[in-house]
Amino acid sequence: MVKLMCIDCGQVEFEAPTFNEMLTVMMPHYFDAHQDIMSGQSQEIQEQWMERLTKAFNQAKESR
Ligand SMILES: [Zn+2]
Repeated sequence: MVKLMCIDCGQVEFEAPTFNEMLTVMMPHYFDAHQDIMSGQSQEIQEQWMERLTKAFNQAKESR
């Protein structure tokens, strides 16, 4: 399992074995606490967010 703190507020810890499952696990929190990121963002901002998450996930995976 990879453990990852929310990359936007650092208040919530998520745990999932793969990147895709991590996304699924994070979604309820993001819809609840980070609506601004989920809705109405430009593709560029969404891509930057995905890039940040990928990096954070890979770092968390390596530091297990
Ligand atoms: Zn958060």
